Amino acid sequence: MKIVFFGTKPYDRVWFEPLSKEYGMEVEFVESKCAEKSIILAKGADAICVFVNDKITASMIDKLYEMGVKGILLRCAGFNNVDVKAAKDKLVILRVPSYSPEAVAEYALTMLLTVNRKTHRAYTRTRDFNMSIQGLLGTNIQGKCVGVVGTGKIGQAMIKLLKGFSVEILAYDPYPNEKLDVTYVSLEELMKKSDIITLHCPLTEDTKYLINKDTISLMKDNVYLINTSRGALIESNALIEGLLNKKFAGVGLDVYEEEAGVFFEDRSDDIITDENLARLTTFPNVLITSHMGFFTSEALEAIARCTMENAAELEKNGPYTNEVK
Ligand code: NAD
Repeated sequence: MKIVFFGTKPYDRVWFEPLSKEYGMEVEFVESKCAEKSIILAKGADAICVFVNDKITASMIDKLYEMGVKGILLRCAGFNNVDVKAAKDKLVILRVPSYSPEAVAEYALTMLLTVNRKTHRAYTRTRDFNMSIQGLLGTNIQGKCVGVVGTGKIGQAMIKLLKGFSVEILAYDPYPNEKLDVTYVSLEELMKKSDIITLHCPLTEDTKYLINKDTISLMKDNVYLINTSRGALIESNALIEGLLNKKFAGVGLDVYEEEAGVFFEDRSDDIITDENLARLTTFPNVLITSHMGFFTSEALEAIARCTMENAAELEKNGPYTNEVK
């Protein structure tokens, strides 16, 4: 079984290299992202392994099928970047549905506490020996109302962490989980009542631009918004307008709708052409990080192990535990 890994970074090899030997897989790591131009590198492989910003289009799926590739191994949970319909009856798509929901939830909480207590700004100030705390006033989390959008694995891990802060938790999910000790409300009510809103739903046709001009207008003034899910859950223009209107006390973005080609790369020598991203980085109350909620050693090991299990199932032509249909 040969797997070509696209878009690999040095940290990807740390767990995949030893585990591929353990599972008896031949692996080839390429740095290029998976794209129309680079798909030819999959020639001779049984499977390709891709990450969140590798967009796999219908024509790429046809090329993979013609080259005899049997499957796409997603080393991530989300699959919005793959044309799943086009792959039907051609390629098997396997993902890592859960590797460490705690890693992402802990990161969402990190972002919230950072933008609230402004430690990102305090850090740069004290490095310059500016010890003034003027402008760094925060608020207590305790006693606030937190709205959790999406109560799947990460949403639940976030709820567990939030409970330690003695907050009221409202939740919205089209498939409520009755076992959870939270109050499910409509999305509208959640937007209206929450002091803090944290997004943990997948990107689908229904959730694209869930945060838009209308939903922002429902929110309380001085609301905190945290997005560690997918960038296109938020309409960037509407967010910028809201920030300019001083709607938000703080915003934490680990994902951004146009992150592909920018996030995970060192673009510090380049001219930034994305005006929205450039604008967002100028707000002192916005923290942007490069899609790293998943980035803990525990999560990377779990991703590598599950991907290898998926590859082993592909080698045997199924049955598949983690197929995306
Ligand atoms: P999950 O499938 O366990 O849970 C998703 C939940 O969202 C489900 O309960 C589902 O019913 C709910 N949902 C579906 N449509 C909804 C809607 N319209 N409104 C509200 N809720 C809706 O997924 P998960 O493991 O909890 O992951 C959630 C998302 O986190 C993933 O889809 C992915 O986009 C993102 N993620 C980000 C990182 C990162 O590094 N930042 C890492 C992993 C996952």
